[in-house]
Amino acid sequence: QQTICECNSCYGGLDCSQFFSACTVNADGGDPLFLEPFWVQHAASSAIVVAGWHRMSYYYGDQSSTSKELQRHIRKLHDMVGNAVTQEKYITFGAGSTQLLNAAVHALSSDNASSPARVVASIPFYPVYEEQTDFFRSVDFRFQGDTSLWKNYSEAGTDMIEFVTSPNNPDGQLNKAVLQGQNVKAIYDRAYYWPHFTAIPAPADEDVMIFTLSKLTGHAGFSLASYRWAVLKDKATYESMERYSELNTIGVSRESQLRALKLLKVVLQGGGKDLFEFGHQTMRKRWERLNKIISMSKRFSLQKIAPQYCIFFKKVREASPAYAWVNCEKEEDCYEVFQAGNITSRKGRRFFAGDRYVRLSLIRSQDDFDLLLHKLNQLVSEEQGSE
Ligand code: PMP
Repeated sequence: QQTICECNSCYGGLDCSQFFSACTVNADGGDPLFLEPFWVQHAASSAIVVAGWHRMSYYYGDQSSTSKELQRHIRKLHDMVGNAVTQEKYITFGAGSTQLLNAAVHALSSDNASSPARVVASIPFYPVYEEQTDFFRSVDFRFQGDTSLWKNYSEAGTDMIEFVTSPNNPDGQLNKAVLQGQNVKAIYDRAYYWPHFTAIPAPADEDVMIFTLSKLTGHAGFSLASYRWAVLKDKATYESMERYSELNTIGVSRESQLRALKLLKVVLQGGGKDLFEFGHQTMRKRWERLNKIISMSKRFSLQKIAPQYCIFFKKVREASPAYAWVNCEKEEDCYEVFQAGNITSRKGRRFFAGDRYVRLSLIRSQDDFDLLLHKLNQLVSEEQGSE
């Protein structure tokens, strides 16, 4: 009988046991498969069965399109982790990052402003903010580049919308808003504000905070459904974002709300210790192993993240970021250097930083990560051999 398996890019053969040493390892992309072993261990408790008659209506019983039970569990989750204040706040769901991020930009820019709201983010930033703002070409908002360009600039009647990614993608820093003023509003993208990737110094309490299940449980493939949510202080912002989702997709998929609920119940078991211990230990070990190799190199350096007290683990924690933000110390095209070393990275230019930077994903499967270290070791050994 033939074994059918999907082999990692560096392996082949019927049972994936053949290793192709000259292959290129993929360290691009943000697929969080590092959590797959956790869900394999919790396969039965996280499974769902959906009967044919389930949720056929456009609405839940109360004419809303989101499950109250799911909202209750999300509040419970934030209380347990301590990463966000949800009391006296509204929660809305979105179908993936594009919908919710854009719904927030739409809600924060006024329809009757004399000029379009300026949407900005601090370099290096997640490129989707610019891509989607440009894509929608709205008369109400326009992407205007790096936040620092607008630091001392304020124009009556023009709204400023600042994207703040905290922890940041690509460099893992706990960023704070740079702009201040009456006409400035911030959208905090909190996709990575979970104990796997960062210390939680205090509950986030911003007016607009966006979370996603894809980096919490690793279910990125379902983020096109209801796995992204916003915690909002202002009722008008909440109503505008609900309307956006209503017009766009009549709310979010009922099946995926059901699956999200099931996954959250598993996460909440035992105070969340199982998932977060697993997530944090995996990421911490990866960061230590990576640092050990890079510290032997004069050609490459990594971002520095200071240890901080974490209110979830109740101790000072060292760094465990989702991505390595690598600087090539010499004036060279870092992407090409890694490509020559058989590692596909993500170009620094995608984050509006220079060619001397690349991002390496640390959240992929264990096989991918081990291969990455193998190739990095070779790169660093070659450097030492040529000295
Ligand atoms: N925000 C940031 C900063 C991200 O890095 C990502 C995923 N790479 C997202 C949002 C998108 O999340 P989702 O999986 O919910 O689309």
